[in-house]
Amino acid sequence: MGLLSLGTPLDWHESKKYNEHVRNNGITQLINIFKQHSNRDNDEFLWGDEVEYMLVDLDRQHHSAKLAIDKDYVLNDLNDETKSLLKARKYNVSFHPEYGRYMLEGTPLRPYNGEKLEDYIYVEENMIKRRKLSSEELPSNVKPLTLTSFPRMGCPNFTSPQANPIGPASQSLFLPDEIINRHARFPTLTANIRKRKGHKVAINLPIYPDKNTKLLDDSIPHNRHLFKSDKEPFLGASKPGYVYMDSMGFGMGSSCLQITMQAKNIREARYLYDSLIPIAPIMLSLSAAAPIFKGYLVDQDVRWNVICGAVDDRTFIEKGEDPYRGYHLFGGLDIDGNKDLNINKHGVNEYGDLNDLYTKDGKPIQHIPKSRYGSVDNYLGDGEYDTKYFKEEYSDLNAPINKKVYDRLLNENSGLFDKYLATHFAHLFIRDPLVIFGERIHQDNKLSNDHFENIQSTNWQTIRFKPPALYEQTAANSEIDFTDKPGWRVEFRPMEIQITDFENAAYSTFMSLLSKAILRFKPNFYVPLSKVDLDMDLAHHLDSAIKEKFWFKSLDSWELDYHDFIGYDFSWFDRFLSEGNDTLSSKGAVYLNGYNSSSSLAGLNGEANIGGSQPYSMNGGTNGGMNGSMNGSMNGSIAKPTKGCTGKILEEINDVDDNGLDQRYTLNELINGGDGKFLGLIRIVIKFIATELIPPDCQHCQDVKCASNLVRLKYYLMLISQRASGEIPTAAHWIRNRVLNNPLYQHDSKVSDEINFQLINDIDRLTNLQDRDLVMDFFGETIGEYILGGNK
Ligand code: GLU
Ligand code: MG
Repeated sequence: MGLLSLGTPLDWHESKKYNEHVRNNGITQLINIFKQHSNRDNDEFLWGDEVEYMLVDLDRQHHSAKLAIDKDYVLNDLNDETKSLLKARKYNVSFHPEYGRYMLEGTPLRPYNGEKLEDYIYVEENMIKRRKLSSEELPSNVKPLTLTSFPRMGCPNFTSPQANPIGPASQSLFLPDEIINRHARFPTLTANIRKRKGHKVAINLPIYPDKNTKLLDDSIPHNRHLFKSDKEPFLGASKPGYVYMDSMGFGMGSSCLQITMQAKNIREARYLYDSLIPIAPIMLSLSAAAPIFKGYLVDQDVRWNVICGAVDDRTFIEKGEDPYRGYHLFGGLDIDGNKDLNINKHGVNEYGDLNDLYTKDGKPIQHIPKSRYGSVDNYLGDGEYDTKYFKEEYSDLNAPINKKVYDRLLNENSGLFDKYLATHFAHLFIRDPLVIFGERIHQDNKLSNDHFENIQSTNWQTIRFKPPALYEQTAANSEIDFTDKPGWRVEFRPMEIQITDFENAAYSTFMSLLSKAILRFKPNFYVPLSKVDLDMDLAHHLDSAIKEKFWFKSLDSWELDYHDFIGYDFSWFDRFLSEGNDTLSSKGAVYLNGYNSSSSLAGLNGEANIGGSQPYSMNGGTNGGMNGSMNGSMNGSIAKPTKGCTGKILEEINDVDDNGLDQRYTLNELINGGDGKFLGLIRIVIKFIATELIPPDCQHCQDVKCASNLVRLKYYLMLISQRASGEIPTAAHWIRNRVLNNPLYQHDSKVSDEINFQLINDIDRLTNLQDRDLVMDFFGETIGEYILGGNK
């Protein structure tokens, strides 16, 4: 969640005096970064994953599962040379702080090498070591679980030990400040968001409608008079029929899976960044794992819009909303008081600025459509890469910019920034710094990038474009040796954390292989960003992976020749692993370069729809029987109108765009492809594995290790494939159904303490692959048998 500076974080009313200072110096630092690194080239494709854990106190004797908020010492121990740091180094793992005091973030210590087949398999081993090492540091009742949202967070008594929601940092009616990381940055971040905004954040999630559900959040206390903000739910912050949440912790206390990849140079990084933007909603949908918040089943499957709301520091004027009664339109901003504050007199210019209305330090007040946590607002453009697919009209969102920053980047530094790069950074720099450390106000802009990172790392978008840091040049004309110094990177951030290490390894590996394949085969995935935002909204829907259709580049406009990919379906693995059956040509059913000459296009559907079985929503089995079929539509029909993170209402949408270049597809089509030209993402990945990743000494894999690695990769891809085809459920679907099918469940959308315990207990057993029935239920038979059978 970003770097931790040491020192004294300033309260908003003090820190806001330095907002322009941080932005100005941050941009100087960015320019220096570009001066140092623009021409950097030929960096290796290294990559890493980040897994966020929740420490859960699981008391099997008393049937309770609570977030452990007194075990954060493990993080210090895991970073202390005299304690467990050496062990962590030996395991090649590293632990970092996260927002919650009950959270840990684990990464590999050294990155993986994207050229090496074995490193894609090593990911899981590394993840297993992280879980093992952190478990060893904890008492046996406290489990590091990978849950996207903790089901009863914000309900009475959800922490161990108990803490009361009376804290001044969040002023939450539900979350005690004791859940927030002790490092001063985090409570300050929480308080400063509230102070800038001028009121508490307000997140409203639709309650899942079941037959006994009262569409009313009855957990909001009416009689607390501790803070002025206590009355906000009754002034419009809480919406009837919705679960109301009022604090940063509901969002930033959720967990995700992120991967970061290093590109060869800035040009390649820009193309990769752009190409991953339309993939983000697809992977959010496929990784959906968050159907319960604050003890309620909610009518959506993912965490994304919860975090959007949880760190939304925009004031009423910036959001274009009327203030609550007695509240200030401008929140905690210092307005230049000489101006007429009747906002109807101030139109909005092309940059989103309200004309002639400024903060005291001269920054225009703007209309800002999105929270600082959200989907990407601008493409970076691939005009300097070999592809040159980007067209200006693809960046079609209303994304306000900081005009002063834009002008500086473009005019003062001719050549370093083109207009797309300048727009990207000028958009990030519309935001204010949220935490400034008193000791770090004055920095050497040739050596430090803290001010730049202050703004950059509190813009939490689906994809992050990460420039290198500044490195010291020892002598005036000496060359900097960039070896082992991170270069231009792209971070993929939308995915929810999965329950098991197998899944987290599978999703990480899939995304890094897909990125490698994108760079190798250079598809054109550009679609207008407004369509990506529609997809982001769709990805929130219940079972969106099988019920919705997502906008994507028309499959015949990917600029790939489908002939080149024929035969690279799941059957490729089996052919390759059976010696000689991949390259020989004869009259029989043998394959030539992956193509079965005797039955044309055989195997194109591969094992994606193995046995042609029905998606889980249709078969009515334990995974099916959705009480909630009253919500959402079956199997890819038109989306119901909804309002997601982007704040847009989805109306009825056609399946093909006017220009014919974008279409709506099921995830089954997008991931698994289909007949003929219908490639699908998995086939691109398999071709990459087949043609680029197999080491020369592994021809037909006489090497047992190499063969077992390929089999494992096949099962990773199968997990993604089967979640897209609906053969196996997403974690969100599985979790929701464990609640719906629990005999104690009252069909009132509420997840009681006991149901919560049983669910978390099952999740713990599933995490450790201890229970055959759970594994089979969750993974289906094909993958389940493989996992339980040991690493065959
Ligand atoms: N936990 C946040 C999420 O679920 C991400 C925090 C981070 O950027 O590390 O998206
Ligand atoms: Mg993190």
